Amino acid sequence: MTIRHHITDPVLMAYAAGELAEAFNLIVATHVSMCDDCRAQLAAFEAVGGAVIEGQDAVSMSGAALEATLSRIELMPQATARAPARASGIFPAPLADYVGTDLASVGWTSLGAGVRQAILPTDRRATARLLYIPAGARMPDHGHRGLEMTLVLQGAFSDQNDRFGPGDIEFADEGMEHTPVSEMGQDCICLTATDAPLRFNTLVPRLVQGWFRI
Ligand SMILES: [Zn+2]
Repeated sequence: MTIRHHITDPVLMAYAAGELAEAFNLIVATHVSMCDDCRAQLAAFEAVGGAVIEGQDAVSMSGAALEATLSRIELMPQATARAPARASGIFPAPLADYVGTDLASVGWTSLGAGVRQAILPTDRRATARLLYIPAGARMPDHGHRGLEMTLVLQGAFSDQNDRFGPGDIEFADEGMEHTPVSEMGQDCICLTATDAPLRFNTLVPRLVQGWFRI
């Protein structure tokens, strides 16, 4: 599996700090279980997370101290990354905890034309849903209020701008107009999470925000 679209650093940091709504938590945990790169990056954030996210007053942190902290992130050995949890069926372990291990165990609702969805039981701050889109079909309009993250579990979809295959994450917001279509060949299964816009300024120090250009 070649993953081309990853979790952004600010979202990984928010995940490490336990600040995400359950639906986003689930999608990050599922991607991380599939992606060596994000797992290593998350381990680095967790290792220094206390200092970066909680312990430091970003405004008073000197440039040298910030640089030292960030260089520690860069230098973290990848070996500290946890091994991924694997479930036996189609769904990675974090997701299997919600829906079981195979397609038949999911409580699907038909949306017509072969498209199915299942809303997962999460806290109300955001909504997680599993979507099943037949090969070659258009993705249903599932609303773009606030931030939306989509993780491809099987198959692939494309829009005007890009292609998303297994393990890839797409970020979209309400300003984004697109009409994704699932590729021919294999039915597409995605996990999506949607909510109001995340307020990153409450999650990470402003200096770190600037560094990541968010
Ligand atoms: Zn990744």
